[in-house]
Formats: sequence, structure tokens, C-alpha cells
Amino acid sequence: MFSHLPVSGILKLPCRMSSSLASALPASLLRSAAYIGGSWVRSSDSATFPVVDPATGAELVQVTDCGPKECRETVKAAAGAFQVWKEVPSKERSNLLRKWYDLMIQNKEDLARIITAENGKPTKEALGEIIYAAGFLEWFSEEARRIYGDVVSVPMKDRRALVLKQPVGVATVITPWNFPSAMITRKVGAALAAGCTVIVKPAEDTPLSALALAELAHQAGIPAGVYNVVPCSREKAPAVGEVLCTDPSVAKISFTGSTATGKILLRHAADSVKRVSMELGGHAPFIVFDSANVDKAVAGALASKFRNSGQTCVCTNRFLVQKGIHDVFVKKLAALIEKDLHVGNGFEEGVTQGPLINERAVEKVEHHVRDAVSQGARVETGGKRSTYGKNFYEPTLLSNVTTKMLCSREETFGPLAPVIKFDTEEEAMAIANSANVGLAGYFYSQDPAQIWRVAERLEVGMVGVNEGLLSSVECPFGGVKQSGLGREGSKYGIDEYLEVKYVCFGGL
Ligand code: NAP
Repeated sequence: MFSHLPVSGILKLPCRMSSSLASALPASLLRSAAYIGGSWVRSSDSATFPVVDPATGAELVQVTDCGPKECRETVKAAAGAFQVWKEVPSKERSNLLRKWYDLMIQNKEDLARIITAENGKPTKEALGEIIYAAGFLEWFSEEARRIYGDVVSVPMKDRRALVLKQPVGVATVITPWNFPSAMITRKVGAALAAGCTVIVKPAEDTPLSALALAELAHQAGIPAGVYNVVPCSREKAPAVGEVLCTDPSVAKISFTGSTATGKILLRHAADSVKRVSMELGGHAPFIVFDSANVDKAVAGALASKFRNSGQTCVCTNRFLVQKGIHDVFVKKLAALIEKDLHVGNGFEEGVTQGPLINERAVEKVEHHVRDAVSQGARVETGGKRSTYGKNFYEPTLLSNVTTKMLCSREETFGPLAPVIKFDTEEEAMAIANSANVGLAGYFYSQDPAQIWRVAERLEVGMVGVNEGLLSSVECPFGGVKQSGLGREGSKYGIDEYLEVKYVCFGGL
């Protein structure tokens, strides 16, 4: 069994912090144990893994490393809690989510500091993530009260037909490191509003945000077993994932991460036919047509490409620029990158570009740049590691890029902006739609007919027209092709956690 720690003793949890940064982190929200069935729990073999500050390489905390045994126990706790939670009136569920939201807002600076420490993104961006993340709890606290069924008219005189919406059951929630808070609340807000209970497996790099949310869920009065967090090391992730995605008591899997991992989890889901939501990789095109307002396109390009140092699934991955506007666009974008982007530790004032999450991420950017340059791409700015530190890469703009280069075919997930020159709209559409994924797509044009045409023809789940940032709590987030299944946020997001039950009343 677990080594349970009394919830009242959580402030005294022996978090082993080794850097001065960690000691500056909010002790009131810093947790290193798993949160299972309402208790703070250590893994039975006392294994731990380090959480590292990607900016300095310093170890922040040792976090408990859960394995299959802990996961099976967590599924039991979540399944038990589901029997109670599904009966809780929606107004009460709504109130609890709202309290959780209020606590996130009250603690927003501390939560943002945790994100910067474990993920590296600048504090201003981290604060933006917290507001966005909390917004999902607020939104779904409102949606909880708007779960409607239907009365359906049928041809038989003696029958009436009803459609009920019921919670799916226990949901496994597996999340990535690039939005340590928002990827959790976007799923969990909807799940809890619907009446489901959840088990969150955060990324190895960023478990502290998930655990801080658990502390606030506890303070908000979310009942034991409704929100559970099982942190684990990358080494244990496959075994943990297998338990959490095959256990018969789990009814639903909601995953955000790479397409490769998503496919593994889909295979797990197949055996027991679980419901799935998959938010997977992207390869967003950003098309600039000759008719575009070039300054607006350049500003949109900067926002869309370099947020979180290029590490978001909706970040532009390839720029397609029409030949008439190409040279001026490239010149202005290079100048703006050099003027507005500042590499450094996310805790420092004025920094816009924090570290990449780890050295593997830096190596991928290096590999893509090397491959492109070896095939004739030109470095307009950047093009190498930053002297700031090991995990830092200079914001980079490449021109003369072709569709054969790796950066045009794969998601880079880093601060690399490759520009492909094109001639006609048809050519741009063919390049944009050649990808086997389709999450976000952007384009700049001032021609109304072209705007309709291109918005309809882009094979993606989300389109930004003359806009480089498009995520919002109220709008459906998700992709087509191998970018995933289902939608999150918006009025559609809650359906991912609801079953439709038809009830036929006969003999009337
Ligand atoms: P990843 O390697 O797939 O990891 C995502 C999560 O899955 C992590 O918690 C990871 O744990 C876990 N995981 C890995 N292998 C597993 C397995 N066999 N069984 C169970 N869990 C497993 O993705 P990433 O590199 O962290 O994230 C970047 C990717 O996510 C990009 O492709 C990006 O486009 C995509 N993304 C998509 C969206 C969207 O909404 N569509 C949003 C954000 C990111 P460990 O950390 O321990 O490996």
C-alpha cells in the first residue's frame, strides 16, 4: 500500500529542494507526493525522480515516482469516487469548480512562478497561462449547469422518447509539459462538470503544476478521489500509461501530446473500447498572400511562432509567403525578431524567450537548421545555440526553404521560422494541405473572396485569418487528420465526457 501522509501535514512535506530558485518557490503550493484519493501519497518503493529547472539545469525537487501498483490503486479510488460524484447535483459541482477557479486566481503569481521554474517560459507568459487555465474551470463551472437532454418525437402514438446525457465514468488524463496547467484544466474542467472523476498523469518535466492544482482542488473542497495526480518518471511512463489506459474501470482517455504517443494510447484503448480524446501534434502553416498588410502579418508571425519559444502545438511551423511580398516580409520579420525577442532566464525582466524544455529539444532544432542549411537555406537571423546557456537556442529565421527540408515536413517545436516562397494560391494550398496532420493554420490576406476560399480549404481544425493567436476558452480546440480526435473547451468540450442514453417510454 501507499505510504499515506496526512493532508494536514502537507506543508511540512519533505520536498528536497536544492537550488535557491526552488526555495523562492511558494512552499504553500509546492508538493512532491502523489495526490490519490484525497491524500498525499509516496510510491511504495520510495522511488523519486528529479524536476529540473530547464534554464539552469538545477534540480528543483525530488517527486515521488508512481508505478503500475499506485496507478491501480488510484483507479480504484477514482472509480469509488465516481459513484458519489456522478450523483452530486450539477449546481454543487459547478460551485466547487468555481471555488477552484477562484483559488487559482488568488494564487496566480505563485502558480506562474511554478510554471516558469519547471517549464522555463517567461513569467509574463506563465501568468497568461494561469489566467487561461483558470478560465477553463470558470467556463466549465458554468457549462456544468447546461447539460441538456432531449425529448424526441416518434411515429408511434403510445411511445415517448427521451435522450439523457450521463457522465462517461473514470477518465485518464495524460498531459504534456508545454502547458503544465492549461492542458490539465481544459480536460479536467469538462470532466468534473460532466460528473466524471479523473486521474492525471503529468509530464515528467512538469509535475509541480499538476500537484499545485491538487492542493487547490483540496482547498476548494473537491471530494477525495475526484481529482487524482500520479506523477512518474519518463522511464515508467509506458507502464503507467498501460495501466491507466487498459484498466477496465477506466472509461475514457484524454491525451495531449505527440502523435506517436497518441497512437500507442489508441492501441491501449482499443482492447476495451474506451472513449478517447486526442490532442496531438501540429505542423501549422502560416500563409502570407500578396494582398496582406505586411506589418500586421509580421506582427502575427512573431506572436504565432515564438510564444513559449516555439513550443506550442499551434505555433507556426512553416511560413509560406507569396513572391510579391516575400522579400519585404522576410526583411521586416528578421528586424522584428532582433528588436523584440530577448533570450534569457524566464524569471528575468524583459525576457521573451526562455529555455527549451531540455537538451533533446535543442538538438532537434539544431538538426532541422543543419539539414535546411545543408540543402541551401539561408540564415536571416539566429541559426545557433544561444550563449546564454545549454538549453537556449537563438530565435531563427531561414529563407530559401524548400518542401524537401526536414523543417518543412516535421514539427520542429522550437524557435525556428522557415520561409518557403510560393507563386500561386493553388501552390500554397497544396503545400499547406500536404501534411498528414492538421491542427492550426493561419493566413494573411485582404481579399474577401480569397479569405473565404482559403479558410474553407485549409485542412486544419482551427484557422486564424489575419490573426496569429487563436486559443480561447470559448472556442473549440482540436485538429483533423493525425492531429487528433475530439474538441476541448467551448460548448463542445463537455460532450467528450458525456454518454448519450436513449430512453424509450412504451405502452402509454
Ligand atoms: P509526448 O512525448 O507524447 O508526451 C506527452 C505525455 O505523454 C507526457 O506526459 C509523457 O510522459 C506521456 N507519455 C509518453 N509516452 C507514454 C506512454 N507510452 N504511455 C503513456 N504516457 C506516455 O509529447 P511531448 O513531447 O511532451 O509534447 C509535445 C507534443 O505534444 C507535440 O507534438 C505537440 O504538438 C503536442 N501538443 C498537442 C497539443 C494539442 O492540443 N493538440 C497541445 C500541446 C502539445 P513523459 O513526460 O514522462 O514522457
